[in-house]
Amino acid sequence: MRVILGGTFNPPHYGHITPALYAADLLGVEHVDLMPCKLAPHKSVSVSETHRVNMIHRCCDTHSRLRAELIELSLPSPSYTVKTLRALNSKHDDTICFLIGADSLYNLDKWYEWESLLNYCHLIVMRRDSETFSPPPAIAKWLRRNAIQDIERLHQRKSGHVLLLNTPLKTISSTQLRNEIASENADTLDHAAPDTIESWVPRNVIEYINDNQLYSE
Ligand code: ATP
Repeated sequence: MRVILGGTFNPPHYGHITPALYAADLLGVEHVDLMPCKLAPHKSVSVSETHRVNMIHRCCDTHSRLRAELIELSLPSPSYTVKTLRALNSKHDDTICFLIGADSLYNLDKWYEWESLLNYCHLIVMRRDSETFSPPPAIAKWLRRNAIQDIERLHQRKSGHVLLLNTPLKTISSTQLRNEIASENADTLDHAAPDTIESWVPRNVIEYINDNQLYSE
């Protein structure tokens, strides 16, 4: 079984890493594969693909259970998760558990061929403990058909299930981090409980951001 978290990772942070490792623990899987997505050319991205990949490699240096899965970057554009999952299935025999945050679940019905996703993987939703869970009606209906509660069932079928997991609360996003760094306020993040940027981003990633002056404008 492979546990994969796709994302922009611009930059990667503990809101990605901590819940993903927690999910992998519950699934009994050693590694989490961080899979950077290819961004549509029209999307304004503040850093290059190379920088995003380098930051992922830094996360993997710090946390030996993390690995980089770069398949999507080599696929033809435009990229869609469903196409990437198909490509992963042709490359590996393992069952794929694809992780998404609850915020992504709420928009899932906007994803290309979203109802085919479960042909290629199980979806694991990283829900935050303290948040109320209120997906839109189309997603709620889909969950009633596909959600399971018993983790063991993920090991019995290669694809087709959705598991909602309560994962450790991480109230951070890459957008917040980029804004904080751009406003040269990198010491303190604006949370209910003020926190240092070091608690949200691995130290060697912060060094990389500083060395390459990312997000400073
Ligand atoms: P941005 O702020 O740029 O949109 P992001 O912080 O949401 O970025 P992404 O790389 O877009 O990060 O997210 C990758 C995946 O991780 C998505 O499925 C997203 O829902 C999930 N995720 C992001 N932040 C968190 C968090 N704090 N807790 C749980 N899941 C998260």
